[in-house]
Parts: sequence; structure tokens; C-alpha cells
Amino acid sequence: MSAEIICVGTELLLGDILNTNAQFLALELANLGIPHYYQTVVGDNLDRLKQVLAIASDRSQILIFTGGLGPTPDDLTTETIANFFGVPLIERQDVLEDIARKFAERGREMTPNNHKQALIPKGAEVLPNSSGTAPGIIWQPRPGLILLTFPGVPSEMQQMWRETAVPYLKSQGWGKEIIYSRTLRFWGIGESALAAKVTPFFNLSNPTVAPYASQGEVRLRVSARACSESAAKELIEPVAQQLQQIAGLDYFGSDSDTLASVVGQLLTDADETLSVAESCTGGYLGSLVTSIPGSSNYFLGGVISYDNSVKASLLGVNQSDLYTMGAVSKLVAMQMASGVRSLLSTHWGLSITGIAGPGGGTATKPVGLVYIGLAKPDGIVECCKYQLGQNRSRSSIQHASACNALDLLRRRLLTKHEQGL
Ligand code: ATP
Repeated sequence: MSAEIICVGTELLLGDILNTNAQFLALELANLGIPHYYQTVVGDNLDRLKQVLAIASDRSQILIFTGGLGPTPDDLTTETIANFFGVPLIERQDVLEDIARKFAERGREMTPNNHKQALIPKGAEVLPNSSGTAPGIIWQPRPGLILLTFPGVPSEMQQMWRETAVPYLKSQGWGKEIIYSRTLRFWGIGESALAAKVTPFFNLSNPTVAPYASQGEVRLRVSARACSESAAKELIEPVAQQLQQIAGLDYFGSDSDTLASVVGQLLTDADETLSVAESCTGGYLGSLVTSIPGSSNYFLGGVISYDNSVKASLLGVNQSDLYTMGAVSKLVAMQMASGVRSLLSTHWGLSITGIAGPGGGTATKPVGLVYIGLAKPDGIVECCKYQLGQNRSRSSIQHASACNALDLLRRRLLTKHEQGL
């Protein structure tokens, strides 16, 4: 048995509003352990809504509608559903009185078109709406098929869902199992490369493992179905551990962990401090570091050395190296890192210099070329070169640069700990 969410509204198709109802309902269905394989958005059009009903009622057993319960002619959900199942609409006196009472309470005139909202398919039950005028319905038009309708207004829909739909679905035996997920996060490996390493895990059924990629980060979501959160965690844990082991240092954390939070924890554990020198990221790296509460314990500060004169005067970068090698070079990145480390007397100094674009690239130094320098507690400085891609946006190159810098530091902190240095 599975559920399908059907959101009705032309404004959703036009992109005027975001389909937050689908997101809310999807999370709620997962909480109740109700499998959910399809979501559909359809405009305010009787024929197309009927087509959706035909497809959805054939493949899903719980159909959840939002939108189209209003009083105007383009609000078609209830009449289309009744029409599809060949059932007449009945004007419910109790619903009409409830709507009239709500209008009176608000000191507003009830118009004839509001009568439409009291029309309910024969045999359906009313799903009460305590705050708005339009009620929904709960209906089994045929054995094994449940229909629930809600108004589009998110606050009304959510209240009705919690007050009536959830108890109803629980009374039907749902909610005994939950779906719980853990997201494992990776940096420094592409989606296909990680997928190739963990392919057999994609065939598991409980927990399931699914890959996602966004902005240079790859994620594996491990989801388990169980009778409680702790039982789900027990199913997830061994699989998550194996995945982490296979990915090695490319795994950086899970769920709400970020590269900055993980680096922050490692620096805290080591009782060490960090400073940064940024050129092309213009302070973004420092911003990521300081977005973590408690970062003042390990982050001393940074220099936004955008202009060469600042690289030379504040960080001590050699003028002739700047002239001969250029600001975007290995040598300058290394001098920036060691310069800021000395200037602010920190254990670690991290630097970024690169070409964020869209202009400024050349054949030998294209947009997306970035050098990251890392000056370590023992004074040794290393540098990594990245070619992030010429067709990326400026902000995406800046984001990837800062994340790569954090990732380099994370890896070195981890190996330093492992070696007990
Ligand atoms: P009402 O008669 O109370 O307006 P309705 O059932 O006719 O309710 P719609 O007219 O479809 O609902 O939508 C009302 C408002 O609810 C929309 O203007 C929009 O702001 C919001 N809404 C509708 N559908 C969604 C959705 N799927 N996600 C988020 N908001 C939505």
C-alpha cells in the first residue's frame, strides 16, 4: 500500500508559489511509515485532474489532495473527484451552518458561492477545518482506496492533517512503523566515483542507501523502516559504518555536520588555533569558520588580502614573486598561509588565491584555477592546486574554494591525530 500526493493549482505550475504542502506531507508520511512513491502537481483543469485521478487511483491506495477547495469556479477538486467516481454531490447542512457561523464571527457577508464549499460527495465524511471555511473530505469511494482532501492554505492544511487525518490514518493501522534517515556527507570525491565504490549497498532494502550530490558535496542517505527511532538506528548503524570505512577520508560527517563544524571540532580537540588569508574568496572562508558557535575558541582572525599591496605589506608575500609568478600561484599561496600564521601567531594558517571569474582568466591561468596554502604547526607549508572549472559561476567557485580549503585542513588534522603528532 502506498500514498500519492496530488497538489492542485495553476499557480504551482506557473512557479508563483513553492509547493511547501508536498514537502510537509512527504515528511509526515515518512513519520507515519506510509510508503510514498509519487507526487503530482496539476492545474485547475477538470479534464487534467480527472486524468491524474485515473492514474493515481490505479497505482496508489491513499490519495492526498491539497488545493482547489475554494468557492470560485476554478476550485474544482471536490466536484471532479465526485464526477470521476460517478457519485452525486450533497449539500451538507451542518457544513453550511459551520461556514455561515465563521462568516458571522468575522463580521463578513457569506456569498452564494460559499454554498459550493458545503457540497460533499455522497458517502464521504467531512474532514473539518477549524480555522478556514473550506472543509476537506475523507472518503473510501471503493474498497482499498482512501481519498483525503485539504485546502491549499498551508496553515489550514497542516492543522487539519494533525487534528483529523493523522488520527484517522493511525486508526487504519498506519504509524506503527517510522522511516528514519541518516545522511552521510562526503567531500573530495565525485558522485559517480563514490557510487562505484558502494554499488552493492544500493540493492539493500532495509535500510536503503541512496546517493545525492549538491555543490561539490556528495551525500548518501541511509533510511530504515522500523517500529521506533532506536530500532531504525540499529539497522542504520552497521551500514553507515561500512560506508564510512569504504570512503575513508572522503567521509567528513553526517546529518547537520559541515566541513566548518568538523574542522572546528578537530581544532578544539587538538587545542589548536587557525587564521586565514583570503584573496578570491574575500572573507567567505572566515565567514564559514565563524558561522560555527564557539569558533572564537580556535579562530583568531584573517586577512582579506585582495590587492597585491596587502599581500605584500600585511602578509609579507615577496614582491618579486608576486611580479614573476603572479598573485594566483603556488608560491604566493604558500607565503600567504605562512604570513598569516606568523602575523596572528596561530598553529595553522590557511590561504586561498585564485580566479573566481567571470573575467580575468588566461590560457595558462583560466577561471577556476585556485591555489590553497596550508602552513602547519611545525612551520612546514604545503599547497594544493585546484582547477574548479571555467563555466562555473563566481559564487560557486568561491564556495568550492572555501570548502576545499576547509577540507584540506580537515584531512591534515585527521592524519596528524592518527599519527599522534
Ligand atoms: P481557499 O479557498 O481557502 O483559498 P483552496 O483549497 O481553494 O483554499 P487554493 O486556492 O488552491 O486553495 O490555494 C490557496 C492558497 O494556498 C494559494 O494562494 C497559496 O498561497 C497556498 N497554496 C496552495 N497550494 C499550495 C501548495 N501546494 N503549497 C504551498 N502553498 C499552497
